[in-house]
Amino acid sequence: EPARKPRGRQFFANPGPTNIPDSVLLATAHQTVDFNDPNFIAVYEACVAGLKRVLKTQQEIFLYTGSGHAAWEASLVNLLSPGDRILILESGYFSLSWAAMAQDLGLAVQSVAADWRRGVDLAALREALAADKGHGIKAVCVVHNETATGMMIPLPEVRAALDATGHPALFLADTISSLGSLDFRMDEWGIDACVGGSQKGLMLPTGMSFTGVSAKGMAAHAASTLPKHYFNWTNMLKRPHRSFVGTIPVSLFYGLQESLRLIEQEEGLENVFARHTRLAKAVRAAVQHWSGNNGPQLFCLNPARYSDSVTAILMPEGYDADALRAVALQKFNLSLGGGLGPLGGKVFRIGHLGDLNEPMILGTLATVELAMKTAGVPHTPGGVQAAIEALA
Ligand code: PLP
Repeated sequence: EPARKPRGRQFFANPGPTNIPDSVLLATAHQTVDFNDPNFIAVYEACVAGLKRVLKTQQEIFLYTGSGHAAWEASLVNLLSPGDRILILESGYFSLSWAAMAQDLGLAVQSVAADWRRGVDLAALREALAADKGHGIKAVCVVHNETATGMMIPLPEVRAALDATGHPALFLADTISSLGSLDFRMDEWGIDACVGGSQKGLMLPTGMSFTGVSAKGMAAHAASTLPKHYFNWTNMLKRPHRSFVGTIPVSLFYGLQESLRLIEQEEGLENVFARHTRLAKAVRAAVQHWSGNNGPQLFCLNPARYSDSVTAILMPEGYDADALRAVALQKFNLSLGGGLGPLGGKVFRIGHLGDLNEPMILGTLATVELAMKTAGVPHTPGGVQAAIEALA
């Protein structure tokens, strides 16, 4: 591997973990304090209240030291019992991974299959729910924003399918790559458990995840018999902080306090969403321009479901996405996301969520174009100009 260019910052265009704002980095560099210290408890409580505002929920929230997988597992073991059937909407690598976890935990998994480029047909969800006359399906699980394919699934339409069929299943949503980037409303959309993590839209280091839980979710929890201890919400409610069985990662809370300040006070949550939409449109304009001349194209073929936090880009036949990523990284110090699961080598991903502005997006797009030229990947030059037009 040739030496990286030593000067300048690395451009980090992965869809999570994401860039950490300098003020958040500084805030996390906090000396250890006792997590029962009243000064820390004040910070902790303010953070939990802020997280609830970002989730748009007034219900319970439980936090874990662990990445998104921890919150995925917590949501399943706290709500369900061995052999329970769940219905997962297929969206891509992350929906398959959540399904595989559920299977390993002893749940029966039914899935609504989908073309990953066009997205799940919600009429098929309605049919599956209507066909389940005995209400054997205990939960419907949806990845709000499929980070592997760059597609967003409209959660209100999933809620509508549950309501239209009068199906009582719990509604579980993964908001790992949507929270703090795309509109998300836990209570209004009738979500019973949502799963979030620290390292994407919240712009924090990896290592903390959480679940919001509705009153209906808490009632299901009381009846759930899957084994659990660290993740057990009942154990958590007995703790002084009503979360965390074990040591609390205090430094992440100092960072979270600052990231909530940036999101809510300095920029405003609705402006955060608008910025993500604006930057995402620029990325898509560039890719659509490149796609001429047998160039790479948007993986997502459904404009109504384009993700505003990540774009997956399908390479032309015969060209390897990982070879292009290697050129971008080794020659130009640009870190791009790779294809996951069956999309390995076929797709690369530009993350455009978190602490990001126009110059960072334009720099990333220009460098992708430079890497394509260097690696001999066919494309129509001028994608950056298309992005500028989209932003201007
Ligand atoms: N769900 C989605 C949508 C994700 O994007 C990810 C990670 O990127 C996960 C779940 C898993 O989270 P983690 O890698 O933090 O365990």
